[in-house]
Amino acid sequence: MQFAPKKSLGQNFLLDEGISRWIADQIQPDGAPRVIEIGPGYGALTKHLAGRADKLLLIEKDDALADALRFQFENRADVELWHGDATRYDMRSLFACGPVKAIGNLPYSMGQPILRHFLSPPTPVSEAVFMLQKEVCDRLAAKCGDESFSALSLLVQQHWQVEMLRVIPPSAFKPRPRVDSAVIRLTPRPAGSLPVFDRMLFDRLVRSGFSQRRKQMKKLLPPAPDGWDALVTALGKQATLRAEELSLEEWVALTRHYEGRHDEDRGQRATEMFDVVDENNQVIGQSPRGEVHAKGLRHRAVHIFVFNKHGELWLQQRSHLKDVHPLGWDSSAAGHLDVGESYTAAAARELKEELGIEAATECIADIPATERTGWEFVELHRAQHNGPMHFAPDEIACGCFFRPEQIQGWIAARPQDFASGFIECFRAWQLIQELV
Ligand code: SAM
Repeated sequence: MQFAPKKSLGQNFLLDEGISRWIADQIQPDGAPRVIEIGPGYGALTKHLAGRADKLLLIEKDDALADALRFQFENRADVELWHGDATRYDMRSLFACGPVKAIGNLPYSMGQPILRHFLSPPTPVSEAVFMLQKEVCDRLAAKCGDESFSALSLLVQQHWQVEMLRVIPPSAFKPRPRVDSAVIRLTPRPAGSLPVFDRMLFDRLVRSGFSQRRKQMKKLLPPAPDGWDALVTALGKQATLRAEELSLEEWVALTRHYEGRHDEDRGQRATEMFDVVDENNQVIGQSPRGEVHAKGLRHRAVHIFVFNKHGELWLQQRSHLKDVHPLGWDSSAAGHLDVGESYTAAAARELKEELGIEAATECIADIPATERTGWEFVELHRAQHNGPMHFAPDEIACGCFFRPEQIQGWIAARPQDFASGFIECFRAWQLIQELV
């Protein structure tokens, strides 16, 4: 080894060739369109990934190691190096590449921030294989009743299924770490496997509930809407309930109780009434939503583009409950006009209902009704807001600000990821930009 390993960068290098190969195999790199390796170091895993994935992206913070990797792979079109802190890597440009696999023997000093950066939605990562301290892997994979069950288990498992693959002893590394390591696989929890709930509220409740593990939750959580007894009765639990006694599904039920969300999830109502319009956007009658969509009747909708102070546009990923384009990416907020409602009033209502914000909007484009807009006459509005958005979980799965050029590249590479009406709106906005 040519240099002294840096403890601050969690540099414990894998020496065991068999284990390195086995870990690389777990991500099934052969023919994968894109694999990211975090912290390649001297390339223990890299040598079993390069040449197998179509594109391999290496992210390394250490200056000397990054130089060595650049030298090693400089003539390889299929291997790219990004020199810097993995938690600063802009994941948003990777959406254009489609689903991405992530792998790494993570620096233990930075394990949790790296997990948060790569796995918090929205993320293009569709599968991850990571090595971390065994104690952290135990917590990530733990279920209710396990000794390691903690807030971390719930915060990760609300989005990911975690599988413990193998324990690796200190003797596999140089320098040897003081504790065992383990390899885990993370795969996304299927959409709809949990009922919808307010993720921000869930995070807050879980963190409060586990803030003093042995204390009863009644003393740690905010007052329940109809009192504590009604809450524990609804959950079928004792009043002396502790955080570790609730499974993920029960924590979701608890969050929904705080939200006052007592009904089963359902998609949009086919009976909701819309104005039906003629080819000149003049109202000619009213019909229920189901009929408007089934017969392709012309009707009205508003899309709102919310920009932050950096000129980035907030995109929403539509909820899996939507009848059209479920899980497709869409304008910041969008919706049909209610009967007799103006476009401006609908824009303000949608911002409030979908994103939980109030902001003035201005109309910047009229888009005619065509098959591509789903026979909607669309007014495109713009608004300014820096977030955070407190979005409605039955409408929106997740969302994020993107730079316009990232969206442009993403639409060009993968138009199938978007609701078609949004693509029309984005093109209209781009035309306006060219004219300004
Ligand atoms: N993959 C190599 C192996 O298995 O031998 C090295 C693993 S070592 C545990 C962690 C690696 O992550 C080191 O190369 C270290 O320099 C790098 N690293 C540490 N912090 C990082 C960060 N914030 N971003 C990217 N790489 C980082």
